[in-house]
Formats: sequence, structure tokens, C-alpha cells
Amino acid sequence: MGSFDALYAHLPVWAQHGTVSAYGMYWRWLRFGRNFGGPYAKEYRERGAWPAEQMQAWQQEHLRNLLHAAATKVPYYQRAWSKQEQAAAMAGRLEDLPLLEKDPIRAQPKAFLRYDMKPWPRLVFHTSGSTGTPIASIWTVEEMRKSMAVREVRSAGWAGVSFRMPRATFSGRLVEPNPESNGPFYRFNLAERQVYFSPFHLRPDTASSYVDALRRHGVQWLTGYAVSYYLLAKFILDQGLNVPPLKAVIAVSEKMTPEMREVMERAYGCRVYEEYGSVENAFFASECEQGRLHVSPDIGILEILRPDGTPCEAGEAGEVVATCLMREYQIFIRYRVGDVAMWDPAPCPCGRTMPILKEVFGRIEDVVIGPDGRQMVRFHGIFVNQPHVREGQIIQEDLNRIRVKVVPTNGFGPADSQDIIRRVQQRLGPSVEVIVEPVDQIPRTAAGKFQAVVSLLRERGVAAAERTGLAQY
Ligand SMILES: [Zn+2]
Repeated sequence: MGSFDALYAHLPVWAQHGTVSAYGMYWRWLRFGRNFGGPYAKEYRERGAWPAEQMQAWQQEHLRNLLHAAATKVPYYQRAWSKQEQAAAMAGRLEDLPLLEKDPIRAQPKAFLRYDMKPWPRLVFHTSGSTGTPIASIWTVEEMRKSMAVREVRSAGWAGVSFRMPRATFSGRLVEPNPESNGPFYRFNLAERQVYFSPFHLRPDTASSYVDALRRHGVQWLTGYAVSYYLLAKFILDQGLNVPPLKAVIAVSEKMTPEMREVMERAYGCRVYEEYGSVENAFFASECEQGRLHVSPDIGILEILRPDGTPCEAGEAGEVVATCLMREYQIFIRYRVGDVAMWDPAPCPCGRTMPILKEVFGRIEDVVIGPDGRQMVRFHGIFVNQPHVREGQIIQEDLNRIRVKVVPTNGFGPADSQDIIRRVQQRLGPSVEVIVEPVDQIPRTAAGKFQAVVSLLRERGVAAAERTGLAQY
């Protein structure tokens, strides 16, 4: 815990609200200050309506500038790229450049900064990876405002809401430091009229106080962790809680399944939209009114690649690799995001020409391997229509052994366990040993995120699912 967090933890709740609001003033300036509502939002709105060729030309020009800067002004690429790769960069040939792993960024985040830029202040964010050292991503204030402007226009805007309206957020911020707290389980940021919910305290017996906070602060839309909103939605339906009118939910961070979306739409009485990006903001995709996930080509170049490095066809699953155009200070070229996704060739009835992702399958880290080598992602299916399971987690302990932790509700019995075992064996083969373990709760990561799959194989370095066979599902 940092010294600020330690100090915050000792304040009374009213002073914590005040601290959050004071901090909120600073953040409002960072995110929504000069250029946010004016030029940036306007530019994203205009470019979003461009014909595809115009957007491509814009993208190519910005890519050329970026690659030139990387080859001549960024220490990491000057050192790591071969002569041929330097030449490819100077010629603007992205496809001839190597993929960028997370490790070099983790080890030396400042080696990716342009040395000819000296922005002040510099913002440093740490990604919330579940294992290993976090990655420091380093931003200028203007980049921060651009990233919020594109959200305002193409995420909130498409969902019919705005960051100017009161909202609630589930994020990794430690807003309630006391794990034994009796509430409130949120803090209010007056500067943005924003309720910060704690994902760590959400339980059946606390759910109604979360809903009360929505009403008390006139919240009009929700954004943040998909799994937290899904769990709150289940509690709302189970307990028949009365939710104030909401305009939209924009789910981020974790993969949302159709079942999660359906439960959330019923509980909150409004549409649920998905936003897909990375903490590093190497790329950005958001859902339009027609329910399609459009990639913003002016934020980053997103490639979907086969294991041999060639681009996937539409409808073929592959690894997501991103080159960030929006962030020009700390430069990431062909960054391996760690997700698996596929393109959708069908044009969208909304008329926007921005490319469409048919499906995002989730993290490569979430791959589970069967004894015969088959690989599976999307284990959510195991828990669909399990009426007596509140949440569950898959732990791969060995090639032959899967532990399924479940938080049971009343009525959970041997038949439910048998059904879960059957579903896992259907996916991984009958020789897999499946242990169903009822638990009181499933711990969140340090950032408050829910981890659907934990692979002890990978932690031991036994299997490398990252490189092979990703096109199988
Ligand atoms: Zn669309």
C-alpha cells in the first residue's frame, strides 16, 4: 500500500468522499480539460463518418510518421531492430517488423519513450496483470484527453449517454479500504458526479446498498468491470430490488458472454454495450447501436494474426496485435495484447465503415489444455444455466486435473457437481479428472478483477499455449 493509500485508509468516510472529490477535480482537469470537448471530440466524430478509403489514408500517413519516429527517436527500437527492420520501418512496412512482447516494456518502460519529447506532467499507469510485474504505461495529458474524447464520442455517445451525466464505475480503485466495512461501499466524486463502487464488497447482503447509491446520486449510466455488474444484476433479480431508471451500461475489462448481457439488461432495464481495449490503449473498439463492435482505426492499428504471423481471414480466430497511433510518446509497435479475436466481413447497418470484430474470445492466458493437447477458451459455458452456482473459477492444476471452484447457492447438490464434471469432460476429454470444490468466495486479483481461469501449468512454465494452434476454435 502506498503512503497515500495508507493515509486515505485512516480517514473517516466523509473525508474519504472529500478526498475522492478533490482528486476527482484533478482528474477532471486531466481527462476533460482543454481540447477534450472541443477539437478532440469533434475530430473523432468527423473521422468516424469518413469513407473507409479516407480513414485508411489517414491511418497510413500517421503510421509512417510513427514508424519513422520509432526508428530514429526511440531507444528500444534503435537497439532491438535489425538493419533490415530499421529499413522496413523507414519504408512504412509494418508487416516486416517484429512482434513486441510484454517483457521488454515491463523491464524498461522508459526505453519506449521518444527522447525528443519532454511532456509535463507525465502520467504513469500500471496495468493490473494477475501475475508478474505490472507494466508502466506513460502518457501525456493530451493523450489522456484524446482517449477520453474517443470514449465520449464512440462509446458513451453511441450508447446515448455522456461523461457529463452522472455515472457509476466499478474499477480496481481501493475506495473502501476496510474489508470488514458495513458500508457505504462506494465513494462519491463530486467533480464528475461519479459513484466509485468497490468490487471487493459486493455480496448478496450488500447488493441493496449499491442500488441505493445509484438512486441517491441520480446515476444515469454504469461503466466498468463487466463481471461486477453481472453479479450485481443477479443479486438484483434474485432479491427483486428496485433499480432507478438507467440509460445504458457500458461494460469493459472482462469478456462479456451473451448470458451475462441478458441478465444485466433484465436487471438494469436498459441496453448493455461493450467496450474493448487495453489499459495501454494500444487500440480501441466500441459497440454501436446495431450491437456491432467497431475498431477505431485512428486510435490504433489492430492486426489479427495466425501462429505463423500471416494475417487471418475474416471469420478466422487469431492473436490480437496492436500498434498504437493515438499515443505518440511511449511507442508500442506490433504489441502482443494477449487476446484472441476474429474479424467480421459483413458491413454494419449503422453505416459506419470502421472495421468490425465478430468476436473477442478472451485472453490467451485463459486457455486450458486437455491431456491430448486440445486447447479451449471460453469456459463460461460451463456455468451457463447452472441455477445453483453464483460464480465459478476453473483452475488447471495439471494436464489431467481441473479444479472447479464454485460459490454455491441454496440447493447446490451432487447433481450440480456431476453436471459440471460432465461439461468439463465434454470439452477436454473423458480422461480429465475434475474436482468440484464449493467455496464461500472466489478472491479477486489485487485490482479487483475476477479471474475466470487460473493455469498453474503456465505458472510452472510447463506448457506454452501462447504460440500454437490458436485458430482451432
Ligand atoms: Zn455499426
